[in-house]
This record gives sequence, structure tokens and C-alpha cells, in this order.
Amino acid sequence: MKISIIGGGYVGTVTGVCLAELGNDVTIVEIDRKKIDSINSKIPPLFEPGLKELLEKNGHRVDATDDINTAIETTDVTFICVGTPSREDGSIDLAYIEKAAASIGKALEKKAQYHLVVVKSTVIPGTCDSVIAPLIAEYSKKQAGVDFSVCSNPEFLREGRAVYDFFHPDRIILGSEDPQCIQVLQGLYTQFSCPVFKCSLKTAEMIKYVSNSFLAVKISFANEIGNLSKALGIDSYKVFEGAGMDSRIGPLFFNAGLGFGGSCFPKDVAALQRLGESKGLKMMLLDAALKINRGQHKTVITLLERYIPIKGKKIGILGLAFKPDTDDIREAKSIDLVSSLLSHGAKIVAYDPMAMDQFRKIFPEINCASSSRDLVRDSDAVVIVTEWKEFEDLDYSGKIVVDGRRILKARDTASVYEGVCW
Ligand code: NAD
Repeated sequence: MKISIIGGGYVGTVTGVCLAELGNDVTIVEIDRKKIDSINSKIPPLFEPGLKELLEKNGHRVDATDDINTAIETTDVTFICVGTPSREDGSIDLAYIEKAAASIGKALEKKAQYHLVVVKSTVIPGTCDSVIAPLIAEYSKKQAGVDFSVCSNPEFLREGRAVYDFFHPDRIILGSEDPQCIQVLQGLYTQFSCPVFKCSLKTAEMIKYVSNSFLAVKISFANEIGNLSKALGIDSYKVFEGAGMDSRIGPLFFNAGLGFGGSCFPKDVAALQRLGESKGLKMMLLDAALKINRGQHKTVITLLERYIPIKGKKIGILGLAFKPDTDDIREAKSIDLVSSLLSHGAKIVAYDPMAMDQFRKIFPEINCASSSRDLVRDSDAVVIVTEWKEFEDLDYSGKIVVDGRRILKARDTASVYEGVCW
């Protein structure tokens, strides 16, 4: 198929390159010239394991441009993968979506053939029907469901495992009741063996929010229980292991520690919370999940203060990305923690294999170590913030280590080892 993708960020680039690997011709439309040049030089504009190799291999089937008109004219299907950030109050900001829909509409005005628009961006229920389709219709002067269709196909990839997740999804959600639309998308996903769940547009949009919110609530639950377990001298991971043997509960995703970050969980939970409030509902559980998450880094300060006065001490931050195997620091826990440590008078030295350049843009004043080994050697105390594999093999001899991500091997060599929830 000939496919255009609007937005060459994490979701758009991974989706585009992986669709090319499946034999499709892909045009990525971007507004950021650096990302366009990077993709056209066959270098992904972001770090994701396996992505560079896949782009090099399929480079002849992937190109990037800022010319949306040609991209729409020469393709049959367009995936919308632009960002849907939070407004100040946590509600969803649809500005990028609206601009993308208007541009698609303008481009479609000149096109005679039917066109399918697939929304991969995370948007609150009702957005496809009441924002995207009407904008495309207005600007194209064409009829939704006849000349073009809009469907929802939310994305569930995890950064750091995005390429793997693209090819091994747990399920594909197809939000559409339009047979033409379902037929095209089923054709596109024919090589996948997972269940394809068909539902209404609104339901598909909601499934994405429910999935992310459930996982975020589960982490905050794990953290609340983890904090109590720690106060009682209990390892919460052993607790979850035992509790998770109940098949109604299950063992996965009790990730007690520093809390969740990233570009999705915090913003999606907040957007759902605000959406509920706009309908007169108090979303108490979502509110609590966000509050617990916001406070979790404070445990690190308490644990450090047990062993050293923070003021004037060199605190080493191991890991800045919001999770391992990505360079993404959006809403990373390292940001809250470093701010807090700086306000306590700490001298920060940080290390991350991929995310240091991004982090320096927010905290130009902090020192970055040239390796994780140097960081451990030169710090008075070390905090493990991201579970990069290489941190498992470090020698923490003589060091105070506060571990926010359960790198248990650090306990073997550290002189003092404290887990955040264990
Ligand atoms: P991103 O910020 O990395 O990428 C968005 C890209 O869109 C940017 O490169 C931006 O320049 C480009 N863009 C914005 N407006 C444009 C326009 N009019 N034309 C062309 N390009 C435009 O965002 P992301 O992390 O890829 O997320 C995209 C969407 O997918 C969001 O709704 C997000 O919630 C959702 N999502 C993200 C993930 C994830 O792990 N990152 C996973 C699942 C779903």
C-alpha cells in the first residue's frame, strides 16, 4: 500500500519504518526540518532499539517531506501520529490534531479518489467524530463516509521496545463501523496473528485511555503499598509476587519504585480525569494515582537524608530517560528528583547512555559524567533512576545507593543500599 504518516516522532517514525518493512511505501510528513533531513539520511530522529537497522534496510521505501499535498495525493491511507499534549490544566490540547486534520482536508480537496484517515494519536473519545472528520470535510468540501473515512487505530507501543511491539501487538483495535475502512485496515494488518478487536470509533478512543490509566493506577497502587511495606520492613516485590499468584490479580506491572513518567501515562490519566470532570464526575482514583506519582521521588530525599546531609554533597543520578532503551525524558522522574535535590543544595552529577543531551536542555547547570563508572566513583551518594542494563554490572563499593528501579545487584557491592519500596 501507499501510506502517508503525519508526524515523524516516536509513533510516526516507528510506524512508518515498520510498515515499510511489511512492504508498503511510506511518506512521512513532518513540520520539523531536522527530522525530515534525518529520516531522509536514513537516520531515525530518535533512539529506539532496532529502528536504525530497519530504516537502513527499508530506506528505499521511506521518505520524509513537508509537502502534505503531494503526500496525500500519492497515497491511499494516511495515519495521524501528531502529539496530543496536555494543556496547563491537564486537559487534552488538540491543536496539532486540528492543524493536521485541516491540512489533510485542504490536500483532499484536490484529490478525486477515496482516502482513508487512520488516527493513531491518543485522542479523547469523540475526537474523530466531532473534531477530525468535520474539519477534513470542511476543508476538503467532501463527505465523510463517502469520499473519505476516519477511523481510530490507537497505538500501544512501549518506548524502548517499540519495534518489537509493532510486530508483536497483544491486539489491534479498529474503531470504525464503516466496512470500506475496516476492509482496508484489515488488509494492512493481514500479516499479524493477534486478535483484531472491532468497535465504534468512540470505544476505540476510550480503550486507549483505559489501558494507560489502568496501568498508571496499578503502578500508583504498587507505590502506595510499596511505601507502607518499606515502613514495615517488608519487600513489596515479595508481597506482589505472592498476591499476584491469585489469577484474578496476576503478577505483571507491580512496578513499585520511583513512579511513572513518559509522554503518555501522566498526560493520558490527566486528560481522562479532566474529561470526567467536564461531565460532572469526580475521577477520584485517577486523581489519587497522579498525586501518589507526583510525590514518589520525595522518598529518595528521605532515604538519602538518613545517611548524609544533602546540602553540598555530590549526588550521582544514574539514568535520566523515563525508561531504559529510549532517549525520551518527557515527564521523566529524573526531572522532579533533580529539581528537588538542587533545591536541597545538592551538587548533581548525572549519567545516561542516551538522554544526556536532552536533559542538559532543561538543566544546563548540572554536570554530566562521561560514564556510569565515573559517576559512581565521583559521587558521595548514587540514586538509580532508570533501569539501564549497564547499571547492573557497576561496582558500587563504598557507596550509599538509593535504588528507585530495583537493580538488586547494586545491593551486593554498595556499603549502604536502600530500595525505594523494598
Ligand atoms: P512526538 O512529539 O514524538 O511526535 C509528534 C510529531 O508530530 C513531532 O515530530 C511534530 O513535529 C509532528 N507534527 C506536529 N504537527 C504536525 C503537522 N501538522 N504535520 C506534520 N507533522 C506534525 O509524539 P509521539 O510520542 O510520537 O506521540 C504521538 C501520539 O501518539 C500522541 O498522541 C501520543 O499520546 C500517542 N502515543 C505515543 C506513544 C509513545 O510511546 N510515544 C505510544 C502510544 C501512543
